[in-house]
Amino acid sequence: MTWSADVLTLYPEMFPGPLGKSLSGKALKKGIWSLNIYDLKEYGLGPHKSVDEKPSGGGPGMVLRADVIDTAINDCFKKDRPLIYFSPKGKPLNQDTIEKFSSTKGVSIICGHFEGIDQRIIDLHDIEEISIGDYILSGGEIATIVFLDSLVRLLPDVLGNNNSKKIDLVFTDLNTSKKKLEVGNEGNKPLCAVVGPEGDFSEKERELILNFKDVRQININQNILRAETATISIISIISYILNL
Ligand code: SAH
Repeated sequence: MTWSADVLTLYPEMFPGPLGKSLSGKALKKGIWSLNIYDLKEYGLGPHKSVDEKPSGGGPGMVLRADVIDTAINDCFKKDRPLIYFSPKGKPLNQDTIEKFSSTKGVSIICGHFEGIDQRIIDLHDIEEISIGDYILSGGEIATIVFLDSLVRLLPDVLGNNNSKKIDLVFTDLNTSKKKLEVGNEGNKPLCAVVGPEGDFSEKERELILNFKDVRQININQNILRAETATISIISIISYILNL
């Protein structure tokens, strides 16, 4: 099933923007994911299609009107998707959060403006507040683009051979104990390092490898390495440990 992003915004023309290019753009054209943009202004009230009001709890500036956002959420968004509001007060965005959302059917996103959205809406719809960093943007659209760009590359069949999601390293030493392996490969016993392919091992492959005796799974770097770089790095580490 196609992963989908439903986005409610005052500036529909900002989409797909950069998401229409590069990896995410190609994936969009291939139908690996879909992007549905909803114009919040269409839900505005009165002759001026008003979308803002003073915050119900007091405070400076204006917020997006609770009644307008509520109608738009009920009208546009599917009920079975997580609902996200990008906000500088939210939980910091990281790779784990992006991976979590990439394994859902899709997400619904509200792009904030002015002083944000009314707190009652966040509570009522159980909205997840996420921040893309400790600085203030003028609206949620750019945060949405950052989020979707990093998420789409994780969807199946988006990354080609030149891009790698994750490299896991598995050391197999069929003859020595784990303890010996840690202190060095004494006695010229064979040491085997298995480096994952671009795009990672499948669950089945991982299970098969981990079934071997004395297998250790090691990450050598927080960053995502290409298979070749990971292989060269691991050879240097082994050479260093064994003093070759
Ligand atoms: N004074 C408000 C700022 C609102 S900025 C506050 O402190 O919340 C207007 C909109 O830009 C926000 O509603 C939000 O959707 C978006 N935004 C601003 N900074 C952001 C950040 N660091 N991460 C995610 N979204 C942000």
